[in-house]
Amino acid sequence: MNIERRLVRKDSLEKLFDILRQNKKTVFAPVMKNGKASFKPVGSFSSIAEDYIQTTQSSKEVIFPRVEKFLDYEKNGKEVSIKGFDYQSVTETVLWGVRPCDTIGFGTLNSIFNWDFKDEIFNARLSKTIILSFSCNKSDDYCFCTSVGGNPGSTAGSDILFTKLGADGDYLAEVVTEKGQAIVALASELFEKTESVEKEKFLANVPVKFNQEEIRKKLEKFFKSSQWVEQSLKCLGCGACAFVCPTCACFDIQDDAHGKIGSRMRCWDSCGYSQFTVHTSGHNPRSVQSQRWRQRIMHKFSYMPERLSVYGCTGCGRCSRACPADMNILEHLISIQEVKI
Ligand code: SF4
Ligand code: SF4
Repeated sequence: MNIERRLVRKDSLEKLFDILRQNKKTVFAPVMKNGKASFKPVGSFSSIAEDYIQTTQSSKEVIFPRVEKFLDYEKNGKEVSIKGFDYQSVTETVLWGVRPCDTIGFGTLNSIFNWDFKDEIFNARLSKTIILSFSCNKSDDYCFCTSVGGNPGSTAGSDILFTKLGADGDYLAEVVTEKGQAIVALASELFEKTESVEKEKFLANVPVKFNQEEIRKKLEKFFKSSQWVEQSLKCLGCGACAFVCPTCACFDIQDDAHGKIGSRMRCWDSCGYSQFTVHTSGHNPRSVQSQRWRQRIMHKFSYMPERLSVYGCTGCGRCSRACPADMNILEHLISIQEVKI
C-alpha cells in the first residue's frame, strides 16, 4: 500500500494517546528511570520519555517475552492432562516510541519464528501489536543502522512512523499499513492533510561505516581466522548482548514442576553462554569463548542472510552500549572488513 503522509500537531500526540487508551489498547512506551529508558505499560502520556537516543532493552520483549508459559500440565497415573496457551490473553497492544532499528528487527524475528515452524504464539502477539515508531533526530557513536540497510527515518516495520519537524515542531505521520490506517480512523481529526514535507533534514546523521555484503562474503572464508580469538579476549560470556538485541531469538524450554503439576515455559537464552551447546554426553562443540563469539557474528552476518535472506543486525548499537567488557560490535565488523584474505 502507498504510504499516506499526514501532519499531527505537537499538542495532538497526547490526545492520540488518550484515544488509544479509551479504545482499551494497552500502550507500551519508553519510560525514563535512573537515566535509562525502557519500555513499560503506561497509563498517562506524561510518563512517556521523549529525550532518549535508544532504550536499553529492545521492544522485542513485548512480542517475545523474556519468560513465556506455553502450557500447564497435570499427571494422573499414566494420563497427562494439558491446558494449552491461552490465546485470549493476548490483547491489542500499541508499541509507542519505537525507533526504526527496532521496527526492522520485528521483520527479522518474524523470519526466524516462521522459518521451519510457524510459532503461533509469536504470530498471535505480533498480529495484535500496532507499532507507532518515532524517527531518530540524534544518534551516538554506537549507532550504525545505515551500514546494515536501515536509516534513522526508515518506515520498514512501522504501522505509523512519526518524525518530529524541528526541536519544537509538529510531526509528520507516515501511515504505512492497514493497522496504521485503523489508528488514523480512530482519531481522524488529529491527522491533517499536508503538502509534501521534507523530513530528511530533521533526521540524525548516521554515516555508513562498512559494507555488510562485503562482510558476508568475507565471512565465508573467515571461519578459521585467528581474529575470533583476538576479538573475543575481553568477552565474559555474560549474554547481555543477546538479551538487549532486537533480533536475538534463542530460547530454552524449561519445566517448572511441582509434584504432579507443572508449567512449561520458554526463557531467553544466549549463544554466548558457555553451556549453550553442551550435549547430553558432556561434549561441547563450542567449548571456548572465541567459538561462541564467532557464532554470534557468523549467525547474524552469514548464516541468516543465507537461510532467511535477512541480516540479523539492525545497527542499534545496544550490545556495545550494554557490554560490561567494552566489546564493540561496530569496531569488530570494521576490522573484519579491513582484513586482507
Ligand atoms: S555483553 Fe560483552 S561480555 Fe557479555 S557476552 Fe556479549 S560481548 Fe561478551
Ligand atoms: S547485534 Fe548489537 S547492534 Fe546488532 S541489532 Fe543486535 S544489539 Fe543491535
